[in-house]
Amino acid sequence: MKIKRRDDVPLADTQGYAAVTKQVVLGPDDGSDEIVLRYFSVAAGGATPYHSHDFPHLVKIEAGCGVAVDADKKESPLVAGDYVYVDSDEIHNFKNTGDEPFDFICMVPLRGELSGISCELPPEGE
Ligand SMILES: [Zn+2]
Repeated sequence: MKIKRRDDVPLADTQGYAAVTKQVVLGPDDGSDEIVLRYFSVAAGGATPYHSHDFPHLVKIEAGCGVAVDADKKESPLVAGDYVYVDSDEIHNFKNTGDEPFDFICMVPLRGELSGISCELPPEGE
């Protein structure tokens, strides 16, 4: 067993997305070779890239308010305590619509984290 505090986890590279921070809270460095738990914080006015990939996301909103954007660009409001399942190959992103940081946990299979596109690809067509 391993117990960590998020404050002790360094920020990961978010590849130019200044409004988004990411921490790999639990993952391969902790011995998890199948599942990775990441913590994202999107600053006011920010968003994660609009993208898709061949693995799912299991998301839980931790703080702030925002929206999940689906393949039809439909925006669904989210607040702390909400959960989101994003299926493999489903286009999506998350946008902060409030004045405070919009924070969420995003779990992926290890191959998703290692692919380097888990939440950092530039939006298509933008
Ligand atoms: Zn994604």
